[in-house]
Amino acid sequence: VDADSGAPTIFDKIIAKEIPASIVYEDDKVLAFRDINPQAPVHVLVIPKFRDGLTQLGKAEPRQVEILGQLLYAAKIVAEKEGIVDGFRVVINNGPDACQSVYHLHLHVLGGRQLTWPPG
Ligand code: 5GP
Repeated sequence: VDADSGAPTIFDKIIAKEIPASIVYEDDKVLAFRDINPQAPVHVLVIPKFRDGLTQLGKAEPRQVEILGQLLYAAKIVAEKEGIVDGFRVVINNGPDACQSVYHLHLHVLGGRQLTWPPG
């Protein structure tokens, strides 16, 4: 079974505001909202509004370098808004061995507690 089928995901419904999400930051390209199953006091997902084939980081193309940078910069804005600039982590799970479950590229922004390293 191909986990990355390219089919629409739940994040499309969040982008379309068809299902509710707690939005932390939004601009014309990027949406950031709280994870429904938070792994830290702050756990925000940062996604591109236009998936454009970016089901996972491993599918990124050179033309997508700008949106990749915008996502990372949005993670910084989220950390500032959430007051976790003294310590936060940005994670991208890529593919089944990394437990990726939603195939619409997303950055996890985690903080608000002491984070351990290495991750599991
Ligand atoms: P992944 O495992 O693919 O890196 O992360 C997907 C994340 O999306 C998980 O942390 C999961 O809790 C979150 N998630 C899945 N469905 C929803 C949803 O409907 N709303 C929100 N806010 N988060 C979701």
